[in-house]
Amino acid sequence: MKKIVGLDLGGTFIKVGLVGKTGKILKKKQLPTLGKKGRGSVLSQMEKGIKFALNGEKDVMGIGIGTPGLVDRQGKVFSAPNLPDWDNLPLKKIFEDKFNLPVIVENDVNTITFGEYVYGAGKGYKNIICITLGTGLGGGIILNGKLFRGSNLSAAEIGHIPICYEGPKCNCGNSGCIERYVGAAYISRMARDAIKKGRKSKIKDLVKGDLSLITPKIISQAYKKGDWLAREIWEKVGLYLGTMFSGLINLLNPEIIIIGGGIAQAGKPLFEAVRKEIKKRAFPLLSREVKVVPAKLGIDSGIISAASLIKMH
Ligand SMILES: [Zn+2]
Repeated sequence: MKKIVGLDLGGTFIKVGLVGKTGKILKKKQLPTLGKKGRGSVLSQMEKGIKFALNGEKDVMGIGIGTPGLVDRQGKVFSAPNLPDWDNLPLKKIFEDKFNLPVIVENDVNTITFGEYVYGAGKGYKNIICITLGTGLGGGIILNGKLFRGSNLSAAEIGHIPICYEGPKCNCGNSGCIERYVGAAYISRMARDAIKKGRKSKIKDLVKGDLSLITPKIISQAYKKGDWLAREIWEKVGLYLGTMFSGLINLLNPEIIIIGGGIAQAGKPLFEAVRKEIKKRAFPLLSREVKVVPAKLGIDSGIISAASLIKMH
């Protein structure tokens, strides 16, 4: 059986594994990224991980790598936010020369999107919008069964779609970007601000009064206990996301929207609020058909999705 190496490069950890043809993990390992020690250390950690996956194996089809930053058609990486000197780096060539195997490099959220398309919630669909919702909001788009990559460097930076023309400043330099409303820190701040203004909420009890400890997870816990503030917050997040998705639905007419990442764990209240807002805003004929579902690949998503990249050709 043919096997593929999948490597998920994160700001803190490198996750690498060997994946069977059906998307099953055969072995895996996690190494520290060592980004602070510079580019050379990160590359040598990646090499170590790939060697572990290849050790004693035959019939390996290739190596798929998901990396932060923008990736061009030649597998060169530019401007990764958490890896400072990860710029103008010919990642594909480096590892093809080193291991003499085909290597495909893709932006990390594009990678997750392709993984969900090949093995996960998007299986069987040809037009897909996928986002990961956590610290930030990343996105990927499959159109007519192909990952949409724009004209050269990047596409689907969904987190930086503005939803308000005079909204708060975003890290990208723009203002009013959706990420600035639904990133984990901003969701937590919504709860904190309301409680500071005197709102009674179980969220406050759950963090024993220390408002700096509020996270989206805590807000979810409060929601399950019937907390009204928590309900309002998820409705707000659904309002923001649904507004943005409505534009994307009218633009692309997707069959399915997949939401992954830590905040998707909020589950029902978040998904219901998103669906409600889409119904209210998008063209009825389009919104009626579109499904909004959680990502499916789970904890090993990064590795499985990186491996799926080899199926792109
Ligand atoms: Zn932005």
